[in-house]
Amino acid sequence: MVATSEESAAVVELDQSKVGRLSRMDAMQAQAMAKASGQRREAVLRNIEAALKRIDDGEYGLCRDCDESINPKRLEFDPTALRCIECESKREDS
Ligand SMILES: [Zn+2]
Repeated sequence: MVATSEESAAVVELDQSKVGRLSRMDAMQAQAMAKASGQRREAVLRNIEAALKRIDDGEYGLCRDCDESINPKRLEFDPTALRCIECESKREDS
């Protein structure tokens, strides 16, 4: 996963020495997509950092909104979950 953006950046350089406008466009598109996924990765990293901070603070596994403990199954699925299922679904409703 981590190597993806580097690989795509390398593709652009190779295509410049090669030819075609089209393949360059493709490469640039691939690079743009790699950048987008890089941003998602940053968001995930931020969530993980926030989760680690909550472990330090002794708040990990507690719902940010209602202070009830978050279902362990939910944490297994998403270790960075900040809210219990109930509060999360309330947020999605509104
Ligand atoms: Zn809650």
